[in-house]
Amino acid sequence: MTTASAGVPAVKVEEKLFQNRYLVDAGRPHIRVRPHDTPSKALLALTHACPAGCYSLNDRGQVEISADGCLECGTCRIVCAKTGEIEWNYPRGGYGVLFKFG
Ligand code: SF4
Repeated sequence: MTTASAGVPAVKVEEKLFQNRYLVDAGRPHIRVRPHDTPSKALLALTHACPAGCYSLNDRGQVEISADGCLECGTCRIVCAKTGEIEWNYPRGGYGVLFKFG
């Protein structure tokens, strides 16, 4: 996906995301997917809705998260607010995303 407006060159979203920096809190992910056998539609939707691509399906059809590149946008928190399938917290102070351009 690219973004463009008059006089501004198109830039791929992936290129913009590459500008961000992350400090990973190793072994202490700030978002967890609760154990489940079959994901709800909401949880499944996160494999497409997360702008950082943190959610994926494993070979058993369960949703997993790797929160290392999380943008802390809160989308997954809102999408799964009613299902309670994820546990969401901000990273500890000093960890997480550092937005380079705002
Ligand atoms: S907060 Fe946003 S970027 Fe982080 S895992 Fe949830 S949807 Fe993805």
